[in-house]
Amino acid sequence: MRPWNFSAGPSALPLEVLEQAAAELTDWHGCGMSVMEMSHRGKQFTQICTEALVDLRELLAVPDAFEILFMQGGATAENAIVPMNLIGRGGLNKADYVLTGIWSNKSHKEAQRYGDVAVAASSGTQVVIDGQTQEPWTWYPSASDWKPRPDTAYLHICSNETIGGLECADWPDMASLGAPEVPLVVDASSHFLSRSIDFGKVGMVYAGAQKNAGPAGLTIVIVRKSLIGHALPGCPSAFDYANVAAAGSMFNTPPTYAIYMAGLVFKWLKKQGGIAAVEKANIAKSRALYDYLDGSDLYVNRIQPAARSRMNVPFFLRDESLNSAFLEGAEAAGLLQLKGHKSVGGMRASIYNAVPPEAVQALITYLQDFERRHG
Ligand SMILES: *Cc1c(COP(=O)(O)O)cnc(C)c1O
Repeated sequence: MRPWNFSAGPSALPLEVLEQAAAELTDWHGCGMSVMEMSHRGKQFTQICTEALVDLRELLAVPDAFEILFMQGGATAENAIVPMNLIGRGGLNKADYVLTGIWSNKSHKEAQRYGDVAVAASSGTQVVIDGQTQEPWTWYPSASDWKPRPDTAYLHICSNETIGGLECADWPDMASLGAPEVPLVVDASSHFLSRSIDFGKVGMVYAGAQKNAGPAGLTIVIVRKSLIGHALPGCPSAFDYANVAAAGSMFNTPPTYAIYMAGLVFKWLKKQGGIAAVEKANIAKSRALYDYLDGSDLYVNRIQPAARSRMNVPFFLRDESLNSAFLEGAEAAGLLQLKGHKSVGGMRASIYNAVPPEAVQALITYLQDFERRHG
């Protein structure tokens, strides 16, 4: 049996998908070529890409008012590509950001190169919530406290802070924030396809594929058509959503193999019963893990309970001198990549769609066992 993989990204892919890709590696559907070897404009790849787009639209029920774009450069490149495309709308070059951790702070910093960028809310302070002291970046500001400027070009959030382990479950209606004309722009990289999206509330959602949708190299952008066509003059042609949309994501050679792999993941998700079914599984998986951590004397998760991510579960050993023994034992038990991000320390279990309930159970069993021996 393969070990269980808890990497934050690039991360676990469904075994069935890897096996299908292996079986098709040298000869895709009898055409005599690997997907890696075929022209992106040929009939085989056109079919692969079209099916991926159709399946993704169906999985997330993406309305016709939105364009789905396959791009490159990861969410990091989107930190610049988003303002280059959207900040000029309305001519004021203003954008507002909600800061909730490392990724949203990076987005905010990059955007400052393109205009007048403001902070609409931040969790970078210590607060008391429900009688509990929350350290900076361990809580998510309530949407009712976000203060976007009514004339800003967009409001950006990171809906799942992969490193901190925070998730924004309820995306607000912008009208309720007094900014009905301001589109909400969401970096959903690390929980994309883990739950449904209410597109009525958003202007744009984007995600690097390598967390929950496929291998690295592909960035998925779902953007309201009415927002396209306002790129700044300095925006590179290949990053202008209008060009990418007009060319059906083939403005230049797209990351063909990554699109193929993501397409296989989309078909696998449909086979699991779609997003509602995986969301249900994700709720159960994350609840089991958090419940165990909360009940234990050795481990602790310090994230505000209502803001805990279903996908990325950081935790600490109360005795940090046990960290290396914990990680060595985990690896020996077939539990890989549990080390926390270097900026946070401790441990992190990323339990994406492709990490099955058995993997979470194996992790809990190991946690129990380690606690019994060292607690
Ligand atoms: C991983 C991640 C990024 C950065 O992705 P790259 O592909 O490395 O550019 C940005 N935002 C979030 C939320 C992420 O999880």
